[in-house]
Amino acid sequence: MELTNHMRINAFEDNVIALLSTKSDGDMRLTGHEQYDGEAYARRGTFLRQYEIDPDSVLSAELMHGNHGRIVDNLARGKNIRVPKVDILVTTQKNVPLSVSVADCFPVYLHDPVRGAIGLLHAGWKGVSVSEDGETVISSAINLMKCADCDPKNIVAHVGPGIQECCFEVGKSVYDKFKGFSHVRNIPVPIPGVDPDSEITHEYVKKYYVDLRSAIEFHLRHAGLQEYNISSDRKCTRCYKGLTKLNPLPEKSVIEYQFFSARRDKTTPIQSQMAVIVCR
Ligand SMILES: [Zn+2]
Repeated sequence: MELTNHMRINAFEDNVIALLSTKSDGDMRLTGHEQYDGEAYARRGTFLRQYEIDPDSVLSAELMHGNHGRIVDNLARGKNIRVPKVDILVTTQKNVPLSVSVADCFPVYLHDPVRGAIGLLHAGWKGVSVSEDGETVISSAINLMKCADCDPKNIVAHVGPGIQECCFEVGKSVYDKFKGFSHVRNIPVPIPGVDPDSEITHEYVKKYYVDLRSAIEFHLRHAGLQEYNISSDRKCTRCYKGLTKLNPLPEKSVIEYQFFSARRDKTTPIQSQMAVIVCR
């Protein structure tokens, strides 16, 4: 049986290390508040050193749920560096680990093996819906890769786990932004005090669900990526359970939620996974 602790993503060439921590690694989110960040930083170190990544070398996006990004080739590095006001990081340099934190939003990992560039972006519904300037966080990320001399035809993309359609119920206004990637379920709700088995007494309530992963895949293709260069992890951060502790006695093995989920956990501050990509 396989343990579902932190994951190394195998969509890329061997010199690209793409990772996602899970709940059992602990909260990895940097908040800018010393009180939380000291402990998160220590956990990041424990996680990253297993892959011989120096936590002091990691650049983390601050995250704005927007579509702005930055090429960070010449950015100074050091402890707890958070790149302000971006959801996308791109570099053409080796040994510059990029990071975003996620807890239902999707991490999207990018690599252009021809140019040797990597990118990482944080995609929630706000970033994936088309903004007034006609861009999404996906198209902006691919534009940034182009600025780094990448050809979209060569870019390999992997969409990591996020909140899937099964759990992403939204209001009508969010649903309307994702026509074609989403659907409506009619949920029967019996009227109180009336025999629930009587067909005519059922009232039907509309619930709206969005498939963000499909929307992300669409925007990757739309930005010029080849279908065969796009892969996705279909695990749902809100409802997926996996085996986190093995025990010779099966009943003592532990099956629990694999990921932090902002929707499910409702903690303040939000507890998060850490996505990382680095080219060696
Ligand atoms: Zn789910």
